[in-house]
Amino acid sequence: MIVEMRTGATPEEIDGVVQRVESLGLRVQLNLGTDKTVVAVLGSNTGQLSTDIFAVLPGVESVVRIMKPYKLASREFKAENTLVSIDGIEIGGKRIIVMAGPCAVENEEQLMEATSAVKEAGANVLRGGAFKPRTSPFSFQGLEKAGLELLARARERFNIPVITEVVDPRDVSMVSKYADILQVGSRNMQNFALLTTVGRNKCPVVLKRGFSCTVTEWLTAADYLLAEGNSQVILCERGIRTFEDSARFSLDICSIPVIKRVSHLPVIVDPSHAAGHYSLVPAMAKAAIAAGADGLLIEVHPNPVEALVDGLQSLTPSRFAKLMEELRQIAKSVGRYI
Ligand code: PEP
Ligand code: MN
Repeated sequence: MIVEMRTGATPEEIDGVVQRVESLGLRVQLNLGTDKTVVAVLGSNTGQLSTDIFAVLPGVESVVRIMKPYKLASREFKAENTLVSIDGIEIGGKRIIVMAGPCAVENEEQLMEATSAVKEAGANVLRGGAFKPRTSPFSFQGLEKAGLELLARARERFNIPVITEVVDPRDVSMVSKYADILQVGSRNMQNFALLTTVGRNKCPVVLKRGFSCTVTEWLTAADYLLAEGNSQVILCERGIRTFEDSARFSLDICSIPVIKRVSHLPVIVDPSHAAGHYSLVPAMAKAAIAAGADGLLIEVHPNPVEALVDGLQSLTPSRFAKLMEELRQIAKSVGRYI
């Protein structure tokens, strides 16, 4: 951390900063300029310190963080890529993993049709929400436990692992009995009680990016899962809120190579929630794979017109099958396969 003193800061003010640094067990490197003094704060865990500790001291102009606030999710902490293993399927390796299915589990017929279609087209994991984090309390909230039971039936019948969202820390243990992968949604990325409980559970987890969160905040949230001993963490970019309103969110494609540079965790992309419209999903999915994503999370509904949630962004089975063919070409061109 770098503490920049105000022009004309007194020797007492500079000394006050030095003493505060040393009281924290950290070291100081003093750069006394002709009219500006800069104090470098050195130590192994400065990334976890609040800049306010120094910003509040008399004579301080600004404090700049050098170390990242996240630790366990960083490449400095672990240089080699993390591989998350689900039912013998590895996420983070050469194979691109496709998770697909309806936004919400609606009924048995809908789920079985969707599962059959995505499996047939080559998806590796079935997605389906039983607990839906809806913006309005009056919108369909999901079938809850009955939805999980239907997912378990689809899992068994089609021999495909399941990812489903958990929204409440009290449900983590129950949901993890049905899920092969727990999903923490965008709106819950910084629900620290939920992250801690999911971290203790040890079930593999997809951590979606909060739509108003930076990559740094996202990785720091991942540290909550990792700190509790859950190393099976997959990140999911799903679009962020910007001034642009031509799509539902702005898919931050750049976050994929950024994550690959600064973190060891696998990263997948959800083009459906980013785009908000089925016609935009294929291009975003292809761009994600070309940019280095380890997988995709795609909404597919047997009859989007009748969908209770997110019909507009859901692919029909035939659109999904066509996309899978196209994705195979893209994967091949970047030295990967589906
Ligand atoms: C979902 O995947 O079902 C979902 C609600 O997505 P997000 O949390 O990204 O909005
Ligand atoms: Mn959805």
